[in-house]
Amino acid sequence: MSISNRPDRRTFAIISHPDAGKTTLTEKLLMAGGAIHLAGEVKARGQNRRARSDWMKIEQQRGISVTSSVMTFEYDGLTFNLLDTPGHEDFSEDTYRTLTAVDSAVMVIDAAKGIEPQTRKLFEVCRLRSVPIITFVNKVDREGRDPFELLDEVADQLQLDVCPMSWPVGMGGQFEGIYDIANDVLRMPADDATGAFEGRRESVSGLDDDRLDALLSDEGAQRLRDEAELAVGGYASFDAAGYRGGDLTPVYFGSALKDFGVEELIRALAAHAPSPRAQPAEPAAVSPDDANVTGFVFKVQANMDPQHRDRIAFMRLCSGRFRRGMKLTPTGHGKPIAVHSPILFFARERELADEAWPGDIIGIPNHGTLRVGDTLAEQPGVRFTGLPNFAPEILRRVALADPTKTKQLRKALDDLSEEGVIQVFYPEIGSQWIVGVVGQLQLEVLISRLQHEYKVDARLEPSPWDVARWIAADSDADLKAFIGLHRSALANDRDGQPVFLARDAWEMNYVQGKSPAIRFSATKERH
Ligand code: GDP
Repeated sequence: MSISNRPDRRTFAIISHPDAGKTTLTEKLLMAGGAIHLAGEVKARGQNRRARSDWMKIEQQRGISVTSSVMTFEYDGLTFNLLDTPGHEDFSEDTYRTLTAVDSAVMVIDAAKGIEPQTRKLFEVCRLRSVPIITFVNKVDREGRDPFELLDEVADQLQLDVCPMSWPVGMGGQFEGIYDIANDVLRMPADDATGAFEGRRESVSGLDDDRLDALLSDEGAQRLRDEAELAVGGYASFDAAGYRGGDLTPVYFGSALKDFGVEELIRALAAHAPSPRAQPAEPAAVSPDDANVTGFVFKVQANMDPQHRDRIAFMRLCSGRFRRGMKLTPTGHGKPIAVHSPILFFARERELADEAWPGDIIGIPNHGTLRVGDTLAEQPGVRFTGLPNFAPEILRRVALADPTKTKQLRKALDDLSEEGVIQVFYPEIGSQWIVGVVGQLQLEVLISRLQHEYKVDARLEPSPWDVARWIAADSDADLKAFIGLHRSALANDRDGQPVFLARDAWEMNYVQGKSPAIRFSATKERH
């Protein structure tokens, strides 16, 4: 059965290096969509006032701040779900997994800096899943690098076709405006000092139009004509299929701070970014039009209040029309869960809403039953694939200050690994529990949470192992034989799956070479 009148969604994330302007751009997007208002503008309206306070009560009771995880705004009849990717220098699996829940991404680049390390890392994750990317070159109000150089850098470093959709007339002190190449519109800063930077728009007949000479300085007009012509001729033209396949990125220039070019970016998302697509699953991909309500958990957030053990599981809805109170069954484990108080982010001003559609995110309060990677479905039998656990890059041994706290430590490590903060490996021999993380910051988070939430005083010590791989084999006998032979380097993860630990990459390669029947995997998908 197909569902008609499904509201159209754009579910996306912003990827960028810290300081490129993600927060500023997010704010401006939300303002453009009317989702946030200047102080004093929000007026409580009868019915909504009650609904809104209900929602806040839930936030308070549970002590969970979910406010910034998913931000929803409407524009031009479409609903945009912006998923926040944690913006630390040192990123975690959380970031990766959030990108599994979006249909497209906006890549923000600082015009003075170009592609930076975190931009590239996040881009690589998008590429793995062919997530289409719109590029926003930010901070054109400041001196930046030559636009050609920036475009070439994107093309060379990310191996993407680039298509300039707009062109800046100068940057910094020389900035005069931005030319919209497809629509032949020149956008210019306001003359006055009202604070509205993007004040004027003038349609022209093309780059040859004489009016450009009146609107811009002589230098500016000349420069725009020379550069834009070269840009149009020198780069790919826009191709919707190329963009949606993740091979081409349309590039927009602007300034988040001055609110310049932000509206063009929203329009680009509206016009080009894909609405929810079919999601990879077993036994078959799930189309958003399927009537069966399905989704997967991509993030679990624990209570900020250590007195409570509640968690919020963030589920991306993949198909069907979700209604509040409906029962969903986690595939593979557990009984149906009645979702009575879902947190639905698309409702304006944080009302509790009653329904959600594919592409929307639903926050489901639970006591630790739901885990990252879980599939939830009205009619079970579906399992979404492709939400990997990544092999940790840093391994540490956990040493307890007080040995009587072993039980608490185990509980804490299990909980935190469920949440995706760390991975934990329990060696078959000995009691040296090993934690693994993708980035250094996760170790700091671990120690602080052990102390404050679990009252466990622990230290992290160097681990005898440096590399971890999940192992599997077609035949049980082969796997058993391998485990028997390498028992001192074997561990189980939180789910009891076997993991081989090696002292270094060389040893890992060596053992791998000698064990052709065993599959060593740097990622694990939950079953
Ligand atoms: P994030 O770390 O990517 O979230 O970056 P922020 O949005 O916090 O911005 C980092 C800094 O750059 C802040 O000081 C912003 O005010 C500044 N910034 C952001 N966008 C612009 C812009 O378009 N122009 C200028 N000049 N500064 C900007």
